[in-house]
Amino acid sequence: MDDFQTGAGRFAPSPTSELHLGNLRTALLAWLFARSTGRGFRLRIEDLDTVRVAVARGVERSQLGDLAAIGLDFDGEVVRQSERLDVYRAALAGLDTYDCYCTRKEIAEAASAPHGDGYRPYPGTCLRLSARRRAELAATRPPALRVRADGASSTVHDVLHGEVTGVVDDFVLVRNDGTPAYNLAVVVDDLAMGVDQVVRGDDLLSSAPRQAWLATRLGGTPPGYAHVPLAVNADGKRLAKRDGAVSLSALARLGTRPGQVLTRIAVSLQLAEPEEPVTPSVLLDRFDPAMLPRDPWVVSA
Ligand code: GLU
Repeated sequence: MDDFQTGAGRFAPSPTSELHLGNLRTALLAWLFARSTGRGFRLRIEDLDTVRVAVARGVERSQLGDLAAIGLDFDGEVVRQSERLDVYRAALAGLDTYDCYCTRKEIAEAASAPHGDGYRPYPGTCLRLSARRRAELAATRPPALRVRADGASSTVHDVLHGEVTGVVDDFVLVRNDGTPAYNLAVVVDDLAMGVDQVVRGDDLLSSAPRQAWLATRLGGTPPGYAHVPLAVNADGKRLAKRDGAVSLSALARLGTRPGQVLTRIAVSLQLAEPEEPVTPSVLLDRFDPAMLPRDPWVVSA
């Protein structure tokens, strides 16, 4: 895979539905962060959860079309996680791991209260199983694979959030259906793609210490981060397709062109005046991470 001497940023959508205004805004920000620092910019399709390949490919095509329509360009080949299962498997070899038979319900019952983001740190139950109990459980269900973190903690640097420290629990690397977990794939791919700058929605901020720790474990250097505010609807809930005309195709049906959508996003970032025609390279000249809005973008559709 082609690395960039200068490092790279990336945008990594899951091909589950059309990109909405919030996703497009995050993509634009990732592009601005990368290009303003002379980095390459990569596109990765995070399709490990894909149940129906044909549907995912259709969604992927629409996502690529939408990114091009607002003027974002990418370097190198598009990377698809579903085509890299061997790479994820190979990465496991260097890690200290163990099988886990716990169900979601058992973890919920055993664990202390969930974190603010709903994530329940794993209490290590299956690390302490007797051989007999392990054999009994192995006869009933397939295991997930967890990494042994021994209560590590990890600190990342985020351009918008400063130093962020998190405890690293024994998180899942491979789910019990054999699918590599998001936290494994994202770290392996960022290292392989030469990504040293991760710009994404701030819903993933709490995953960053875990991922940075894993990057180090895999012999790499963790990227720098910028977790950017999400777009929300009028009720303050994370923006979704059902919130009305929030995708390029829905807006096009109302007569709004992609360039006008770019302006709307740029206005939300205080990088353009209402109605002002802009391009990503015009915005690049105005971009200053220190000036970015820190609050969610409220989208009224
Ligand atoms: N695929 C994830 C999403 O669409 C993004 C993961 C990441 O940027 O690390 O939310």
